[in-house]
Amino acid sequence: MRKRKLTLAISASITALCMLNTVQAHANPQEDFMLLEQEKAANKVYKAFFPNEDIARKAAISFHGQLLESHYKQGYLIMELTEEEQEKLAAFGFTFEVASEFIAKRNEVLTLIQNRLQQRSLKSATAMSDASLASIPGYACYETLESTYAVASGMASQFPGIAQWLLVGQTWEKLNGQGGHDIGVLKLTNKAITGNKPKLFINSAIHAREYTTAPLVLDFARWLVNGYGTDADATWILDHHEVHLMLQTNPDGRKKAETGLSWRKNANQNYCGANSNSRGADLNRNFSFGWNSTNGQGSSGSACNDTYRGPSAGSEPEIQALESYVRSLWPDRRGPGKNDAAPSDTSGIHLDIHSYSELVLWPWGDTSQAAPNGTALQTLGRKFALFNGYAPQQSIGLYPTDGTSDGISYGELGVAAYTFELGTQFFQSCTVYQNTIKPKNLPALIYAAKVVRTPYTTPGGPDISNLALSGNASSGVPAGTLVTLSATASDLGFSTRNGTEPTQNVTAAEYYIDKAPWESGAQAMPLQPLDGSFNGKTEGLTGNIATTGLLPGKHTVYVRARDASGTWGALSAAFLVIGSGPVQPNYCSAASGNANDEWISQVSLGSFSRSSGASTYSDFTEARIGQAVNLQRGSNSLRLTPQFAGSVYNEYWKVWVDLNKDGDFTDAGEELFTSTRALSTVVNGNLVIPAGAATGKTRLRVAMRYNTAPVPCGTFNYGEVEDYTVNIE
Ligand SMILES: [Zn+2]
Repeated sequence: MRKRKLTLAISASITALCMLNTVQAHANPQEDFMLLEQEKAANKVYKAFFPNEDIARKAAISFHGQLLESHYKQGYLIMELTEEEQEKLAAFGFTFEVASEFIAKRNEVLTLIQNRLQQRSLKSATAMSDASLASIPGYACYETLESTYAVASGMASQFPGIAQWLLVGQTWEKLNGQGGHDIGVLKLTNKAITGNKPKLFINSAIHAREYTTAPLVLDFARWLVNGYGTDADATWILDHHEVHLMLQTNPDGRKKAETGLSWRKNANQNYCGANSNSRGADLNRNFSFGWNSTNGQGSSGSACNDTYRGPSAGSEPEIQALESYVRSLWPDRRGPGKNDAAPSDTSGIHLDIHSYSELVLWPWGDTSQAAPNGTALQTLGRKFALFNGYAPQQSIGLYPTDGTSDGISYGELGVAAYTFELGTQFFQSCTVYQNTIKPKNLPALIYAAKVVRTPYTTPGGPDISNLALSGNASSGVPAGTLVTLSATASDLGFSTRNGTEPTQNVTAAEYYIDKAPWESGAQAMPLQPLDGSFNGKTEGLTGNIATTGLLPGKHTVYVRARDASGTWGALSAAFLVIGSGPVQPNYCSAASGNANDEWISQVSLGSFSRSSGASTYSDFTEARIGQAVNLQRGSNSLRLTPQFAGSVYNEYWKVWVDLNKDGDFTDAGEELFTSTRALSTVVNGNLVIPAGAATGKTRLRVAMRYNTAPVPCGTFNYGEVEDYTVNIE
């Protein structure tokens, strides 16, 4: 009955939008929706045909608030325009046609969302658990506001050593007793390593309807937290840097947009009428620095307009929260003049994640004049654009924008600031998000975290890829083993979509063990060119690592390369494990594809017990939780507890232990428990460790899978996989 993916296939049988008033028991969002549509009927939606793609992309920047869809290949944008806005575009050669197909399609899609909300509200409110509201109706891959906060605060409670959930402000509605929300920041760093660390700050969903933005940043947080201790890059990033994520910058507006409304601004009732769906201020025109700097060109003074800048600089509580948080992160390293450059060693990056238009943008947006750090900003922008394939450019479009987010970080403080415009739609399908937006943009965010120490210089240097250590060096070799390192260094890693970045030959490469180049006592060891000479822009690298004298345990090998301009590029790292055997075998990965409906709530083994929330996979090994599960040879009591978000389903359980410690769960007798059939209840049993089992530590894996017996490797549909370290006594 469930267990199907919700997709937005448009059904011809969906009734026309304004038939909604025949549905009984109206939910508020529907009334809002009808009001919005009545208001918006005053505006017209057009196919805006452009003279060329360059002008189209610039229009997409200047008229971001009016843009509804882009069709670059077909030669038009879908835009909602006043007569005055049409005239502004016509001056650049645009022509217009009423977009009747788009209007019909949009009405059908929004009707679907409304119908799904209606179905949810018809369920008993008390029987609805929080998790049943985990995603936006029809968009299972996008967490709601509440779910975003639950995941972020859950990371902080589960991994307190690396994650903190900070409440840093309140929305307009909350401050004014209209319900409303807190504004939170997920701060990620290894707290055990103290001192002043370079800081990456990312905010998302400042515009409410931009669905993909907060999920991408939350997926970045998952990559860091899940990778800590297992992925060398995620580990050194969190050891030596801080990552600050303001996932939901505009929570009041976001809740409006989650009902299907095309809501952009905050929900401030003082602007455009307390009950109007056109109310609020455009938070990305309300920043203090450069607020209304172009005297009405780059923002609107009309309260009902989608780019209304608010009555004064930084008037909105959401912007006050963001600005004061950003000022607490970084010192001011830029002079007061528009042309004062920040020093080239200025640390920190601010990314403001929007959708859509497939752009990477940097300051200034209110003048076509280049920013004083414009060349360096362009270098990193072209690097980001290599990863996501977007068009890199200064954020001035056909017309200026003012009071935007780069004002606080770059304008005030001199910190490198970028806006990403993800994808091609506000209400982007999950298929596009999963297949394109997430895989293309995660590497850009990871790269930002790698170069945040010196973003104005490091991006000019070569990048390292294909880093590998020979033999079992990543899983465990005895000290004294000769380990060979191989990698590729390339200076060519820039988008060429909008100009060509200067590149040079790779002239040197080196590795470090355990101490990164900036740490005292760091020791550089040279790497050699695979072909015998450093004479190309891309070079294979090789080198031998002498492991004699390295202590047992996990070591980090950092690699970097330099180009002929003298610039060292970003670090990449791998783990080197010294031990007498497979200390950290490389176990196959396993996970469910979806833990929204059910997950493993508790695992109890003998006197050990651990509870946890919804997750497709959880690493609860000793390296992560500081505790191994003690097991006796013979019988150990076992209790496995599922949890369901709403409806209850039958789940099939299995438990494996890598008894011979060879890095897999497939040897005879390693499947130690099976539930024999799918059950919806708590499962009690015994885990019997054979009398001849080797003592000491090894891996236990428990999997709960909807309806079908799980296998130890790979991904399945619904449920969860958890890993533990067990100590056989
Ligand atoms: Zn936006």
